[in-house]
Parts: sequence; structure tokens; C-alpha cells
Amino acid sequence: MSAKLQQVLDQISRDMHDSHDWGKVASYIPELGQVRPDQFAISVATADGDMFSAGNASTRFSAQSITKVFTLAIALGRAGDQLWRRVGREPSGTAFNSIVQLEHERGRPRNPFVNAGAIVTTDVVLAGREPREALAEFLGFVRAAAEDDDIHINADVARSETAHGHRNFAHAHFLASFGNLKNPPEKVLGTYFHHCATELTTQQLAKAGRFLVGSNTFPHMVSLDRVRRLNALMLTCGHYDGSGEFAYRVGLPAKSGVGGGILGIVPGKASIAAWSPGLDRNGNSKLGTAAMERLAQEMDWSVF
Ligand code: GLU
Repeated sequence: MSAKLQQVLDQISRDMHDSHDWGKVASYIPELGQVRPDQFAISVATADGDMFSAGNASTRFSAQSITKVFTLAIALGRAGDQLWRRVGREPSGTAFNSIVQLEHERGRPRNPFVNAGAIVTTDVVLAGREPREALAEFLGFVRAAAEDDDIHINADVARSETAHGHRNFAHAHFLASFGNLKNPPEKVLGTYFHHCATELTTQQLAKAGRFLVGSNTFPHMVSLDRVRRLNALMLTCGHYDGSGEFAYRVGLPAKSGVGGGILGIVPGKASIAAWSPGLDRNGNSKLGTAAMERLAQEMDWSVF
């Protein structure tokens, strides 16, 4: 498999670099608006313990919403199934930052990956502590999963989002008005903006995602039962309003972020990280999605 996998990745990377339409970088976080769109990287960590990459696989990018998978794993470890009293498990059919549904559903976000849901899971991770303690636990989890301590939070990106995060402030105060935040909204958001500002390379992200593969060879950060449930949520809700389209085209559980990264899981086989900062209209990486689609087809990887 290894020789073929490397060839496939090299070919995908060449084809992506020939692309004429890289999509648009997110500009609502000004710091992310500075990133050059014409970049691409892909890495695969296989169940045999190998790593394959192509493109700019050692360039760090902003993980943004991909970190919601890690905070969800930590929140489930803390609150167990009690978490589901506060957050739902259904695809939203609305944008990642839409506030409309939250009022209709009386402050219980649809799922843990829309912003409101992730703000609630961050509240659970915070658990009455200072943000720096919660962030230390979060970074500890990501670094242990990746077996790499050289993973950090970019404070400039967190500051940039804080200065322009009016919608997320609205979400947090709305949640608080329904009694669905236990910590002060400012502290929860400070923690949320910082974990979103974590920077990784595709190699580091593919390694960090191995705990979701559910293979004996990978780190057991959470139980197999929970791994399956996290994957189910990634498949159904991981791409916001584009989740159905992604499941149709790629057929793998995955989580995207507005930094242009995508973490995809081939259960029992591999963890994939793709990155290209230009986004499609749903806020998911345009070429990252195209690359995952090609890779899944060429390797015959699908959960179906
Ligand atoms: N920090 C971003 C926000 O809250 C994350 C969004 C995303 O990556 O989809 O808007």
C-alpha cells in the first residue's frame, strides 16, 4: 500500500497546485485573511505507524474548528452523557455561526460542532478553572495524541478573533441567558478563541487524529465506544451545512476548520489531514475537500 499511497498523494498535490480556483480565505478573522490562498498539503498517518505526505506538509496553519473534536473528547470525558442534556446531536442545516436556531431551540445548540455547541463544550472543559488551566489540559491532550510537544496556540490569531468576535459573543450571552453556560461568557470565549487558534502542520494533525482511528496500534486516549460516537458526529455534523455533501463525495467522518484544514478518519486504517486555506461557500476548504475526495476514491476508502 505504501508505494501506491505516496504516488497518489504526490499526484493529488500536483493537480491541486495546478488549480485555477483556490477558493477564498476567511477574512472575518483578520489575521487569517493574511494567509496566501495558493497553498496545499496533505498527510496520512496509517495504522501501520507510517506517515506519508505531499505539498507544504510542514507549514503550520490555524486549526480553528478542528479543535472542537478535541474539546468534545475532553468534555465527554468530564461530563459523560450528561453533556447531551446541553447539546444536541443532529446536523444543523444552518451556517456554523447562525444564531437563528438557537433561539428556536431554547438555547440548546443542535450539535457540538456549530459554534454555539462548541462554546458549550468549552464551558464544560473550563469547569470553574482559569482559562490557562483548561487550555493546558487541551494542549496536553493534543500534544499527547500527536506525540509532539511542539504544538502551540497563536495568541495573535486569538486576539484578532476576540476583537472581531461579535457573533460568538452574541452566542455566548444568548446561551448564558438560557442558563446553558456555567462560567462567565468572557472566560468561556477567551478559552474558545485560544483553542481555535492552535497551529499545526498536516503531519502533526494527522498524527493527532490517530486516537480517532480505533486501531490497536494507536494511542487510546478515549474508549473505542466513544471513538465510534465521535466519528458518527464528524460524519453527520463535521462540515456544517456542507456535511451531507462531504459525506456523499468523500464518505469518511471528518472535521473542517475555517483555517482551511480538514481532519478525516478511515476507521481502523488511517488518519488524514488536508489543508488549503481557500474556502467554499459553506466555509470548508475547497481544495482540501477535493483532495480528500480523490484520495478516498483512489485508495477505495469509505465507511460505506
Ligand atoms: N473560531 C472560529 C469561529 O468561532 C471557528 C469557525 C470554524 O473554524 O469553522 O468562528
